[in-house]
Amino acid sequence: MEKLGIEKTSSSYTTPGSRACLLDLLCTETPLWGCQGDLYLLGPQQRLNKFLSESGNTICADCASPDPKWVSLNLGAVICIKCSGVHRSLGVHVSKVLSVKLDQWTHEQVNSLIDLGGNSTVNMKYEACTPGNIKKPNPDSSVHERIDFIRRKYQLQQFSRCDQLITPCPFPAGYSKCTQKAQSFSVISPPSPSCLQNSKLYDKQATKTRIGNAFRNSWVRKEFENKSCRKKAALTNLQAGMVEFVGLIKVNIVRGMNLAIRDMLTSDPYVIISLGQQSVKTRFIRSNLNPIWNECLMLSIPDDVPPLKVLVYDKDTFKSDDFMGEGEIDIQPLLSTARANEKSGMANSMPLDNALVKNSLIKLVDGKVKQDITLRLQKVETGELHIELECVPLTQ
Ligand SMILES: [Zn+2]
Repeated sequence: MEKLGIEKTSSSYTTPGSRACLLDLLCTETPLWGCQGDLYLLGPQQRLNKFLSESGNTICADCASPDPKWVSLNLGAVICIKCSGVHRSLGVHVSKVLSVKLDQWTHEQVNSLIDLGGNSTVNMKYEACTPGNIKKPNPDSSVHERIDFIRRKYQLQQFSRCDQLITPCPFPAGYSKCTQKAQSFSVISPPSPSCLQNSKLYDKQATKTRIGNAFRNSWVRKEFENKSCRKKAALTNLQAGMVEFVGLIKVNIVRGMNLAIRDMLTSDPYVIISLGQQSVKTRFIRSNLNPIWNECLMLSIPDDVPPLKVLVYDKDTFKSDDFMGEGEIDIQPLLSTARANEKSGMANSMPLDNALVKNSLIKLVDGKVKQDITLRLQKVETGELHIELECVPLTQ
């Protein structure tokens, strides 16, 4: 999870782990934290909490809900859970959402966030030219109002300063490809009226850039490679953003055991998980029937709480990927337990006393409701997956 945040959205960070590098980085780029020895007394989470308590960051950048607990790492915005669902639906190439509580933050990620200046700076940039007739969402706004505003604000950048929106046109007169760099990755801006004269060319170029982003982020299934599927995927993401979410589920794909052979002697397995309209996948591991991914994926839970679907595939370069089994997990008990836990405000060490979890593997660890699952894969000769689930109800 944390690797995705830094490595894929930024190219300006040094190798993590070096104390000297970190000191240099903090001293030069974040004078706020100074160079005193006590810098190292603060862990990333404490530094993040301090940042969140600063003026502007105590309310959602998009709808002003108090005490937001989510962050768009690449945009630098501190946002509430409702807006975070919309951000996530736009795709990681537009907004890479991390949880303040669920994700393990690194110093590099906190530095990256601090460098973007916090909500006040972000809004000065992305809302500088907001037309008078555009109303910003409030904490009670509908999901449709949020989608409309957030999409126009960050993806289309319709409210940014005009001088930032207009970039030199690389095409002959009459054509215009209006792209803009936002931090370290590309965001497609809508075509200006002159662009529309050759919207075909624009579409072609824009799509090309979009594919690049998708591949860099490795979050899009191989089958989305064909054009119609990509369009469908974009639409699906937007539809996902229109669904009301009741919580989040963090899925740690720990490992696979005795997976099926799909190449000569072995397989290159990866896992896709989907919940309702959303779908994310792990990296593939080469030539391994007992792979260890230990990869955390996060999905929003739609209010109809569909089952979590799990698919395993063998990665192939020259032909379509081979099926290696599937499974389904009912997440309703986990969600119910998480809700009950939140309502009762249990102490971290208290055992769960809930009819729903009796004789199940749902447990309370450091105040977090988790479930360990060994999933026997179906429609395949062999294979199991070890998966850890953690559920967070909407209120966090
Ligand atoms: Zn919000």
